[in-house]
Amino acid sequence: MNKLNAPKGTKDIYSPEIEKWQYFEDRIRKYFTLFNYKEIRTPIFERSELFSRGIGNETEVVQKEMYTFEDKAGRSMTLRPENTASVVRSLIEHNLMNELFPHRFYYIGPMFRYDKPQKGRYRQFHQFGVEVFGDNSPYVDAEVIFSALDFLHTINVTDMKLYINSVGCSDCRPGYLEKLTIEAKKNKEHFCTDCQRKIDTNPLRIFDCKVESCISLADNLPNITDHLCEDCSSHYKEVKNNLQLLGMDFTENKKLVRGLDYYTKTAFEITSSKLGAQNAILGGGRYNNLVKELGGQDLPGIGFSGGIERILLNMDTPPSDNTKKLFIAYQGDDAMAEAFKLSNQLRKKGYIIYQDYSSKKFGKQLQKGIKLGADFTLILAEDEIANNEISIKNMQTREQIKIGREDLDKWLKKNC
Ligand SMILES: [Zn+2]
Ligand SMILES: [Zn+2]
Repeated sequence: MNKLNAPKGTKDIYSPEIEKWQYFEDRIRKYFTLFNYKEIRTPIFERSELFSRGIGNETEVVQKEMYTFEDKAGRSMTLRPENTASVVRSLIEHNLMNELFPHRFYYIGPMFRYDKPQKGRYRQFHQFGVEVFGDNSPYVDAEVIFSALDFLHTINVTDMKLYINSVGCSDCRPGYLEKLTIEAKKNKEHFCTDCQRKIDTNPLRIFDCKVESCISLADNLPNITDHLCEDCSSHYKEVKNNLQLLGMDFTENKKLVRGLDYYTKTAFEITSSKLGAQNAILGGGRYNNLVKELGGQDLPGIGFSGGIERILLNMDTPPSDNTKKLFIAYQGDDAMAEAFKLSNQLRKKGYIIYQDYSSKKFGKQLQKGIKLGADFTLILAEDEIANNEISIKNMQTREQIKIGREDLDKWLKKNC
């Protein structure tokens, strides 16, 4: 029979890698609670329309990368390619907007994009992110950016750079797009076919193109930051001031438009170069029109999402958990039953116990204890059973002691 493998672009995550993931997820929960974020979990699939309306029809994501299927009732469904649109949908559906502001959510979970798999890039990949609703203050922008970068620092991601930009609003962007279209049209035949189409449908998306010749052509196109309205430009200035108040270094990147249509005003990206090339590991921005566009109130929003696989590639090994592990070894049938009882009593008290049922040979069990990385082996052999004692072997120093069973609790409290 043919061997069945995981689908291309997906992967199984197991020990020891899974420990890195658990550490990372644990850190997210602890860190973002400091800012009063609450977790939200939305479905993995949604009506396709949510993403085409939310993210934008002309984006790479919607054009090329969505996993869309028809369910048995003929409805078009899509595996979520990102989580912001779903969080907004949920906010509107449950009328969360009528409660206390601002609303703060964080999420962790799998996303799906039909992309070319490469190092750190999967078709089922994972993101964590935050969303803040109902607050238009440039302090919030700076706080969200600060939390993203500071969080990554706390988990030992190094060699990071922060890039920021403003992508304008519905007042200033149309005028800019007109100028952009006129300029882009002058070189239309030199752009790739995708970009040639974008010039007429959504020229801002030209800046997302990864084709070398388009990138250099885009360099000479007008920048949105030079065409901001009064409101956008003062907001952008204040965001930069607030970042400076927090002592943060940043680089302005006038071409940063973040690939999704919903952004307004602030856009930002964090890259890490630990693995050589500068790679974006987290990005986000303000989306003041999205809630309204998806049928809710006129409510501002801001957030970011980080690619967990890519962040883990750039993260140093987490500090090892120093909880002591115990192996229990036995000799003879009576001792096996006794060890079975003891190991489960100790687990009830919170100790990590390994026991091997597969071999009754004492020597083989000890070998297994070493392989499993136990710190101590508790030994129950005929002698110990007869005298109501237990031997304890330190697997590092090889030292072995024998104590009365009644003293075991005391010894464990002191040594584990
Ligand atoms: Zn504006
Ligand atoms: Zn192009």
